Amino acid sequence: MCTNSHDCIISKTLDGVIMSWNPSAEKMFGYNESEVIGKHISLIIPPDRLEEETFIISQIRAGKKVEHFETERLTKSGKLIPISVTVSPVITEDGEIIGASKIARDISERILLQQEKSHLYDQLKTLSDRQNEFIGLASHELKTPLTSLNGYLQILEKTNEGQNSGHIINKAIHQVQKLARLIDDLLDITKIHTGKLAMSLKPVELKEIVKAGIELLQHAYPDHVFTFKTDIEAVRVEVDAQRIEQVLTNLLTNAVRYSPSSNLVEIFLDVDHKQAIVSVRDQGLGIPEDKLEIIFSRFYRMEDRPGPGLGLGLFLCNEIVQLHGGRIWAESTLSKGSIFRFSLPLMNVQPEL
Ligand code: ADP
Repeated sequence: MCTNSHDCIISKTLDGVIMSWNPSAEKMFGYNESEVIGKHISLIIPPDRLEEETFIISQIRAGKKVEHFETERLTKSGKLIPISVTVSPVITEDGEIIGASKIARDISERILLQQEKSHLYDQLKTLSDRQNEFIGLASHELKTPLTSLNGYLQILEKTNEGQNSGHIINKAIHQVQKLARLIDDLLDITKIHTGKLAMSLKPVELKEIVKAGIELLQHAYPDHVFTFKTDIEAVRVEVDAQRIEQVLTNLLTNAVRYSPSSNLVEIFLDVDHKQAIVSVRDQGLGIPEDKLEIIFSRFYRMEDRPGPGLGLGLFLCNEIVQLHGGRIWAESTLSKGSIFRFSLPLMNVQPEL
């Protein structure tokens, strides 16, 4: 420990008898030099910490140094102060260890700061838990009337088949479904927060999930062209099919939303290093290099991007893929387009070391 003017320096014999006591020690412990010289060091050691002295002396006898040992010591007025001590053997010219020299530093301020930090952290955690609880409750409350609304609209759609109002009902259903998806995302976020986003894994053919996801989006965006290319015959993975479809539809929806002047979205399925890799390529706005990682954070949205959104989609994708033992990442060229890829471990294949 390098000393400064506030460090107290005390030396003692191997039996613990105090031999020297500097002015800083006087200040820190409240005893004058004359009051302590010749007395036993246990004077400043709290009774429940006396064993520490036995340990320190055993180290000193063995010629070893004890560094940055954090403990508490007693002042004359009975106050406990947290200190950090470094104790070194005092060795004569003949190499005999005759005592110990101790440098002690008051670490009250640091401990206080640590306590404040941990208190702040606790407060923040409570706030975040409450916020999460609120999002969960609010989403549930919103979901119930929305489900009824969706049901009524479906009935209306059937009873109005062929009528002029048909396309308006269709639009209303589309908006209700959008809202339902947003609420589902919010509910998923609360599940992630409480560690309750459970995956129900089953062996499936990944190609089928990809095709189903594309079909869904083709239906929602009939003016877009979704192409699917793969050389792979069959790709067996053990996944929660619904969740993986959710990841894919999220990526496909983003590919459409963030490509205002292109209607082509390409999907690829490959196998690399015993992982299945699904890629979604668009010819849209692209993402700057320094944002390629942060876009996967919770609530992150790029300010200059059009349209509504909560910045939850990619965060959820990342969580879901990771829960499957996979990885998700993006590559992009600004104004040219982006490729989002996610990997999933193939079934019955040991990962490469
Ligand atoms: P949201 O789309 O609701 O904002 P996401 O988590 O899905 O939330 O996406 C986060 C941000 O990443 C988006 O706001 C957008 O700026 C950017 N982004 C996502 N996908 C693409 C894409 N295919 N092309 C360009 N930017 C994208």
